[in-house]
Amino acid sequence: MPRLVMKFGGTSVANLDRIKRVAKRIGVEVARGYEVIVIVSAMSGKTNELVGWVQETSPLFDAREFDAIVSSGENVTAGLMALTLQEMDIPARSWQGWQVPVQTTSAHSSARIEAIPTDNLDAKFAEGMKVAVVAGFQGVSDEGRITTLGRGGSDTTAVAFAAAFDAERCDIYTDVDGVYTTDPRITDKARKLDRIAFEEMLELASLGAKVLQTRSVELAMRYKVKLRVLSSFDEQTDTSGTLVCDEEDIMESNVVAGVAYSRDEAKMTLLAVADRPGIAAAIFGPLSEAGVNVDMIIQNISEEGRTDMTFSLPTDQVLRATEAVDALKTSGNVNFEKLETDAEVAKVSVVGIGMRSHAGVASKMFAALSAEGVNIKVISTSEIKISVLVDRKYMELAVQALHDAFELEKEG
Ligand code: ASP
Ligand code: MG
Repeated sequence: MPRLVMKFGGTSVANLDRIKRVAKRIGVEVARGYEVIVIVSAMSGKTNELVGWVQETSPLFDAREFDAIVSSGENVTAGLMALTLQEMDIPARSWQGWQVPVQTTSAHSSARIEAIPTDNLDAKFAEGMKVAVVAGFQGVSDEGRITTLGRGGSDTTAVAFAAAFDAERCDIYTDVDGVYTTDPRITDKARKLDRIAFEEMLELASLGAKVLQTRSVELAMRYKVKLRVLSSFDEQTDTSGTLVCDEEDIMESNVVAGVAYSRDEAKMTLLAVADRPGIAAAIFGPLSEAGVNVDMIIQNISEEGRTDMTFSLPTDQVLRATEAVDALKTSGNVNFEKLETDAEVAKVSVVGIGMRSHAGVASKMFAALSAEGVNIKVISTSEIKISVLVDRKYMELAVQALHDAFELEKEG
């Protein structure tokens, strides 16, 4: 029998009524002849509540207990979904991660899936089970402890199951009806894309678009899992949502597929650093050890043996980074004049595989921003994306200007 993976996010299973509603949707696929693996998130808000309880109980919590607690929201929705399906006379069974088992590394709260043996579920399907409802976001480590995959991790569970069970497709049901050219809350010209390439989706996800966990897109790309993002609130047709697929499966597309943003960025500059071989390693090694995720880096040309080193990072890591930089100064390992921090910036990026073959995207981007008087503070580029840091207060304006400049409201 063909297999399908259907994943439902927190808002789609937020209460019993919604669970019933999506159970009907699952019933439609069962009636079509699929064996279905359903991956569920916790009811919306639940995981945040659990995280809050952990932090309140123990500020420097034990990561193993964190995962034991925070993974529990999914157990509830998995059981409720199985019961709801049974009430509809659909043979269904719930599975927690360890029961499958979803084998992961032991990096608690950011574990990676290593293997999903298919025997247990296969045996149940062979006995007539039509739907396996699996708790997303969780797995089990070699030590036999419960692990979680990082926030938004149910997407990754879903893609991993689709790959392991050779599913025809992995449908991710969420509260938006697909992937948009940009956030529709920022411009009403944002357009839903029918298709987007894995690589574009990967960039958009890692640059701040929140529809899919980045890791899930990585996995889908690696295992060529056809991924569809669609709304659990709309009536569905076969062309609903957005298909995330190989670029060969996209006939026509714009040079730029979308504009992404990430609001909470900061920029730090070490002024007048005494330049010498090894200076970058001396700065960024300790930052990384301190758990700072440095994103963009610029080193200015040296003048009289001194240079400025600028880097960007998430705003909530500024404190940690400042401490690490202060320690560098005290240790005498890095000689610089002073540290300047600007915690009020945002990153705006344009993404598109068409950039590989089209020149002029960068100049068009810079011209559009300059026409709006938006100053660019840092630029970084890769093969299929260009990112800039701008003052946070101009973020929306920058996104709108770029969406207009690349005419993203029009189909390619
Ligand atoms: N419930 C988890 C979270 O809120 C995992 C998920 O929903 O994907 O992050
Ligand atoms: Mg999510």
